[in-house]
Order: sequence, then C-alpha cells, then structure tokens
Amino acid sequence: MESGRSRICDRCKVELRLMDAQFSYLKRSFRHKVPRCPECGQVYIPEDLARGRMREVETTLEDK
Ligand SMILES: [Zn+2]
Repeated sequence: MESGRSRICDRCKVELRLMDAQFSYLKRSFRHKVPRCPECGQVYIPEDLARGRMREVETTLEDK
C-alpha cells in the first residue's frame, strides 16, 4: 500500500526525496519543499501546493 508520502519516479524507479526548491511564478518567487527525483531531477508538485499556494499567488495578483 502507498503511504501517501513517498513517491517513486516513473522514469528512474527510485524514491523521491523532499528538497527545498525555489519557484518562480508570475514574477514572484517562493520556496517550498517538494519531492524531487535524485536521479533525473524531476520535481513533482504536490496537489495541495498546486491548488493551495499557486492559487493563493494567483488570487493575490488578481485582487490588485
Ligand atoms: Zn527520475
């Protein structure tokens, strides 16, 4: 059963590791820990981040 926390890279079949990543989004940047493949460097954006933080940034910009 999947723990829900650990993910496997489809390409490399290795467990992703949480790494501090910097995002640039609409000229704003922020840091967040995201699962990243240590082999190919592929970053997986968790759903809660995609829905939460991204939405938050978008909303902030729209309000101005
Ligand atoms: Zn990989």
